[in-house]
Amino acid sequence: MGWLDNVFGKKEAGEKAMPAANPVAGSKQSKDPVCGMMVDEDKAVATSTYHGQVYYFCAVGCKKAFDAEPAKYLRGGGHIGGAAHGH
Ligand SMILES: [Zn+2]
Repeated sequence: MGWLDNVFGKKEAGEKAMPAANPVAGSKQSKDPVCGMMVDEDKAVATSTYHGQVYYFCAVGCKKAFDAEPAKYLRGGGHIGGAAHGH
């Protein structure tokens, strides 16, 4: 089964040759404070400025919810995994 060794050998080499995961490749990402999603700042559907800080949202609905009660979302975002609260 020499060919199998070849296949696996090639696959392994290929994976090792892959560049390490690079999350920040040119475009910045911000966390949507309402749903906890990471939003590409270039592709954000909506943005809002609060206390001089710009927030990015995945949907207009998230921005509206944030604009209504920004403090609620900024304070409640203490823990990672806010997506558990659902959309
Ligand atoms: Zn959202």
